[in-house]
Amino acid sequence: MIKYEPVIGLEVHAQLKTASKMYCSCNSDYQNAAPNTRVCPVCLGLPGALPVINREAIKSIIMIGLALNCSISEYSKFDRKNYTYPDLMKGYQVSQYDLPVCLDGYMDLSIEGTSKRIGIERVHMEEDVAKLSHHIDSVSGQGYSLVDVNRSGVPLVEMVSRPDIRSAEEARQYLINYQTILRYLGVSTANMDEGSFRCDANVSIRPEGQKEFGTKVEIKNMNSFRSVFRAIEYELERQSDVLSSGGRVTQETRGWLEDKGVTISLRSKEEANDYRYFPEPDLPPLSISKNWVSEIASSLPELPSTKKTRFMKQYELSEYDSSLLTNSYRIADYFEKSVSIASEEFELGKNSAKSIANWTITELTKLSNEYSIEIYDSKVTPNHLAELISLIEKNVIGTPQGKTVLAEVFVSGDAPTRVVEKLGLAQISNSSELDSIVITVISENPNAVADYKSGKETAAKFLVGQVMKATQGKANPSVVSGIIVEHLKSM
Ligand SMILES: [Zn+2]
Repeated sequence: MIKYEPVIGLEVHAQLKTASKMYCSCNSDYQNAAPNTRVCPVCLGLPGALPVINREAIKSIIMIGLALNCSISEYSKFDRKNYTYPDLMKGYQVSQYDLPVCLDGYMDLSIEGTSKRIGIERVHMEEDVAKLSHHIDSVSGQGYSLVDVNRSGVPLVEMVSRPDIRSAEEARQYLINYQTILRYLGVSTANMDEGSFRCDANVSIRPEGQKEFGTKVEIKNMNSFRSVFRAIEYELERQSDVLSSGGRVTQETRGWLEDKGVTISLRSKEEANDYRYFPEPDLPPLSISKNWVSEIASSLPELPSTKKTRFMKQYELSEYDSSLLTNSYRIADYFEKSVSIASEEFELGKNSAKSIANWTITELTKLSNEYSIEIYDSKVTPNHLAELISLIEKNVIGTPQGKTVLAEVFVSGDAPTRVVEKLGLAQISNSSELDSIVITVISENPNAVADYKSGKETAAKFLVGQVMKATQGKANPSVVSGIIVEHLKSM
């Protein structure tokens, strides 16, 4: 049987968070407004209306290009992409054809410890279309559609990868990375479920070892990372079945049906020349100065991959833990704030960073999932977390009590120290109190004592367990162990 190699390229559209639209001054927040209220002659596509380039959008696309290691064109221009559809007000979309703002970049992925570089062909500027909604008239039973033009003209950045992706998992990672980068840059909400981050996949297969590409199929309508993954897996298998049974893959656009878990044929794929691209006569070409680019470059925030590497070094965290913490810059900020409070206010040592990382990744994440509240929006502040770690490190409470305290802080927002008092969770640190409990436990367990005397050192552990039980876990096991051994030796 012939083995086939997947060849995948992704096209991702991200809406920018600029205040106004791409070519007019309408408010670009199209979601929080009554339909067709954020419109003007430009985004309605009225004849004679003249567009103007949004400078903030160009700044955003330059930031994206730099973050994706692209070169930024000094000379760029806009082109009309012509096609007709009811959601396209002008009958053309103002996009970029042969001179995009950003060219030739790459993104490094880390998949199960091995790194993989995916080439980025281009990143260009375009505009969103109006929103259609489809309805059925309850009386006549006839279908009809409504158009909301608020979204028309909202800036879109399209990023096109090279066909370097070799599996559905690589595609998923690539999208997650890109989403994280956009959020770090603060240029897009990049929410897939709201439609501000959309992905089309070009998928083909070829016999292993063959240089030439197979016929590619474009997949649309994938609304989550999971559906991108599933759609690509499905399509790879479908194409392999077609080829294995002697058939030929047709070049076409297919749509993913989430509930059925299949792709279906939508139409034969258009070629670029079907769009009759030509230069936009109403907009001047863009000239982007080197100074402006270097100014933007110097103001870029620390990017996810750099932050991840820094966390590994600075806090001695594993790659896995670092990437969990840096997947969201807000969680990364939360973590670092807590670490600095732990050292400055609670005077904890370097190791506390590891504890804070662990508690953030495990217990806090668990609570955040349980209550569907982001960690940084929860009542547990970075200060609370540092205080909790301090209570544990100073043996005021043990780890199991720490979990109870954290759960309580998550709900009430009370300071950990107060919660410890309120719930009476403090460890018994009074040694005479502990001493008398140890004496009782020893007198009640003569067999364990005899075992210890005959050389079975594990018997001491059993006695520690009995003391922990008697104190409902409120004793420090290593302190208890010390007292027990002292008593046993003197017997
Ligand atoms: Zn407008």
